[in-house]
Amino acid sequence: MAVRPMVNRDSQFFWDGTQVGELRIQVCNACGATRFPPGPACQQCEAYDRGHEVAAGEGTVYSYVVHRHPPVPGKELPIVIALIDLDEGVRMVGEVEGVDDLEIGQRLRVDFRRVDDDLTLPVWRTV
Ligand SMILES: [Zn+2]
Repeated sequence: MAVRPMVNRDSQFFWDGTQVGELRIQVCNACGATRFPPGPACQQCEAYDRGHEVAAGEGTVYSYVVHRHPPVPGKELPIVIALIDLDEGVRMVGEVEGVDDLEIGQRLRVDFRRVDDDLTLPVWRTV
């Protein structure tokens, strides 16, 4: 049982992307600024003209937490959650698989875990 992320009008493009193996970043069509998390208006120029680009899917660990306790239903511990600085310049949060610890500055690459027909989650692995 996975924790289902909230899908709304602002983040639909992101989840449409993970379904097809793309890590999408919202881009302002007016000024080209990228932003994450997605929102209705550009924080740089306040335009509502939204587009997206596909990230290369690599980044660097900015910070992280290792969840060792208490138990989480349906999950094996530890769970490693990182704040990842994508090479495109946005920061996102994600689960890192295949490790039980991390280091600041470590390189990560995105992968996709299909949960069911409607949901594919981005997960991260060390490079
Ligand atoms: Zn803008």
